[in-house]
Amino acid sequence: MVELAPLDGTVETAFRSDKGRRSENQDRCGEFARAGAHLVVVADGMGGHRGGQTASRLAVEAIGEAFARSAKRPSEALLDALVEANRRVHEAGQHDLALHGMGTTAVALVIDAKHRGWVAHVGDSRAYRLRAGRLERLTEDHSWLARQLRDGTLSPAEARDHPARGRLMRTIGREPGVEVDLSSVSVRPGDRFLLCSDGLWGALEESEIAERLAVDPLCDAARGLVDAAIASGASDNVSVHVLHAVGSERPSRRGLVVAAALFAVALFALAFCR
Ligand code: CA
Repeated sequence: MVELAPLDGTVETAFRSDKGRRSENQDRCGEFARAGAHLVVVADGMGGHRGGQTASRLAVEAIGEAFARSAKRPSEALLDALVEANRRVHEAGQHDLALHGMGTTAVALVIDAKHRGWVAHVGDSRAYRLRAGRLERLTEDHSWLARQLRDGTLSPAEARDHPARGRLMRTIGREPGVEVDLSSVSVRPGDRFLLCSDGLWGALEESEIAERLAVDPLCDAARGLVDAAIASGASDNVSVHVLHAVGSERPSRRGLVVAAALFAVALFALAFCR
């Protein structure tokens, strides 16, 4: 499904989630708003036939509800929302044997009306920012593989098709408590953000992600990313939520005044130094 939703002129968003070559889709995307702030989230569930779907759905719903009803600052509301999602998914797993042990990743991005941004995540779903053609990853995977790569125990080539590739060190819902990574992110007009499940980043090189994320309109970027991952042989569910920071990408008036002043100083220095 692809949706384009202009949100009071601050951001535009689009998402797409596809089961790919799997029989069911355990990924989930969500989008929510409260006064002056927008939230997008991607979750990748795990834990058997029903468990994976239930975990990602419950987590996205819990994150959206908790964020929307919170009166706290966006960053605190975001952190609380992922903790609440953990509580709700864990509790549901305790009450139904078929759901026992279910869990999910979650990566969420909030941007407020002043273009301030925060990313929170648990697991190996990722956030990226594309600015002026350069793609930057904003999250560190909470996976066994990422830890081995960090410690130098495995090389990137060894990690590529490692059997323990999907093993997570942190999840939403498997334990009664959860440690959430939260960071603020710089947002400028023209920036593009991508939240995605590992079905996307595991299938595409970063250069291809950057190229496809830049496509207009935004819904075509979302579709192109997912289609490319599936075409490249991805065997997993593939989900993306993309966000474009709307605004004038021309230099601000203040920026022009500063640039003119610097130019004048440079001319004066040149003239004076002769
Ligand atoms: Ca996955």
